[in-house]
Amino acid sequence: MSTDSERERAELVASDRRHLWRPYTSSEDHEGRDPIVVVRAEGPWLEDADGRRFLDGSGAWWCNNLGHGHARLRGALTRQAEQFMHVSFAGTTHAPAARLAEELVAVAPEGLSRVFYTDCGSAAVEVAVKIAFQYWQQNGRPERRRVLTLPGAYHGDTFGAMSLSAVSEFSAIFEPLLFPSERGEGDGLDAAVDHLCDLLEAEGDSVAAVLVEPLLQGASGMRRWSVDRLRRLRDVTRAVDTFLICDEVFTGFGRTGRMWACDHADVAPDLLCSAKGLTGGMLPLAATLATERVFDGFRGDKRRALMHGHTFCGNALGAAVGREVLAIYREEDILGGVPERAALLAATAERLGSVAGVRGARSFGMVAAADLGAAEGYHGDLGWRVHDAALRRGAQLRPLGNTVYTVVPLNIAVADLVQLLAILEESVAEVLVG
Ligand SMILES: *Cc1c(COP(=O)(O)O)cnc(C)c1O
Repeated sequence: MSTDSERERAELVASDRRHLWRPYTSSEDHEGRDPIVVVRAEGPWLEDADGRRFLDGSGAWWCNNLGHGHARLRGALTRQAEQFMHVSFAGTTHAPAARLAEELVAVAPEGLSRVFYTDCGSAAVEVAVKIAFQYWQQNGRPERRRVLTLPGAYHGDTFGAMSLSAVSEFSAIFEPLLFPSERGEGDGLDAAVDHLCDLLEAEGDSVAAVLVEPLLQGASGMRRWSVDRLRRLRDVTRAVDTFLICDEVFTGFGRTGRMWACDHADVAPDLLCSAKGLTGGMLPLAATLATERVFDGFRGDKRRALMHGHTFCGNALGAAVGREVLAIYREEDILGGVPERAALLAATAERLGSVAGVRGARSFGMVAAADLGAAEGYHGDLGWRVHDAALRRGAQLRPLGNTVYTVVPLNIAVADLVQLLAILEESVAEVLVG
């Protein structure tokens, strides 16, 4: 460890503290916690300025599905960069965007045939809800205005996405500015879905859409709900002819072991939101997929168009990388490698479940999670104590309050996964058992 690198590291951290405003970070943490100064990242590993290596246990915030620095993704990015990087997506089109749409549709749940590009998951959700709302406004059913969601929902941090998400520590202060959405109620998510279904059966005529994170809520703490209920929700939304929007920003691209969480239930929504894994977590690109019926509702004169767009719609670099991601899934059988790794996650969850003070240890595909101690919400400190214990052992495990979890690349080397899970178990034991 040279003094040069130490000095450089210290200067960088000082500059960060002087000028940066960090996401989800109190000034207390910003100033009090030493960040990992990343200089390189490969596979599940982050390497810092001092040459130390850390396993990235939360997968670059749940988007790094193929590992850092994947050679094929780097190649696709440079090849595209040599041609062109970005052009407006108005009056122009290009191979990366058009081909990616075609290839996405080919792997999407049946019937989704149209792709609208944006640049983050929040936007993908907002666009889906705008589409659903506008559809009914201009197709003879203007009374369909309500949007139903689930308790604990998280669909992003922009105003529309916050309005559609459960009130949380993140959004409570903005409540006066949010538009109304309605959440199902009940003891647990399955009961809330049943409540939504009852509501739809009684008042479905006034509902524009139901928006859910299918089978697994991410940010509320990796909460499962059942395949049966997703099927029921699809049946009931169809029966009352309203739209089902599945937010697969987190669950998509194999996170739960199938390409889409919807695939576990053989359910095809009317609208599907994808982001995070779409570029293997390399570039900000998002997509909202819709059925032909939905798209048809926007045919006609100019006033019927969806008047929504972002500067970086259809970004060529993102789209080129997205195509390569799909090629890697096909050619390297990424989903085929999940069961072996998912079994390790499941075994860890089972062992964690028998540690005193651990509640509801669980896993689903490539996600493992456990709640620690008594329920304390997002600001509980047990999760952060596990984080600190894990960091000393060489892994970064960002918690969701007192929920600890791992979200690692689908193709993580088994030895690396075994190491990460050992660190998770040892760190939980250190904090809870001492
Ligand atoms: C992360 C996430 C979002 C928001 O995506 P951003 O790219 O952070 O805006 C939306 N929905 C779900 C389910 C997510 O996990």
